[in-house]
Amino acid sequence: MLKFLKQVGGYAKETLQSARYIGQGLSVTFDHMSRRPVTVQYPYEKLIPSERFRGRIHFEFDKCISCEVCVRVCPINLPVVDWEFNKALKKKQLKHYSIDFGVCIFCANCVEYCPTNCLSVTEEYELSTFDRHELNYDNVAMGRLPYKVTEDPMVTPIREFAYLPEKVLSGHDAPANAARAGQRPEEIVAAAPPKQEEKETEAQ
Ligand code: SF4
Ligand code: SF4
Repeated sequence: MLKFLKQVGGYAKETLQSARYIGQGLSVTFDHMSRRPVTVQYPYEKLIPSERFRGRIHFEFDKCISCEVCVRVCPINLPVVDWEFNKALKKKQLKHYSIDFGVCIFCANCVEYCPTNCLSVTEEYELSTFDRHELNYDNVAMGRLPYKVTEDPMVTPIREFAYLPEKVLSGHDAPANAARAGQRPEEIVAAAPPKQEEKETEAQ
């Protein structure tokens, strides 16, 4: 009899424990039922790339002086600068310029070191093609500016987690004009203490 009562007691205890675990699981489920989904419905919705995003490179033909600095600083000597010497003008004249984005690692070294700033990074990342050779962009293709996610009428821009206002966890819930939490990169730079060389310059 005692053994039977013990078995019934153990069974009741396990039943109660199971009910508690099911309740805990369902409470998480019900909690999520009242939230909006965080999934971004690409391509109808797109995340806004960060300020320092390094996407497809933009090229301005008229600014290029054919110095080939971009080729020398590129880890794989990728940019192709096709120029000829103009004897009348006594200077190099650019004929074609190209970068193969199927090979480029988007390090932006070329952008950083170009002396005339004719290279710049854009926020374009949708470069998929059926043929990898189509990724070899010439100066005409590189001169095209992409649509910004925030200006594309076909797309709903969604803010990334790092750019959300305080206490907002989903880009879908962020009010359009609410300021993001934390400081922008330029505010951090402005608030940073001056470097040793700057202090010495000021002292002179
Ligand atoms: S570094 Fe700039 S200016 Fe010089 S060749 Fe490259 S793109 Fe042209
Ligand atoms: S982004 Fe980097 S890898 Fe691509 S062309 Fe420029 S330097 Fe070369």
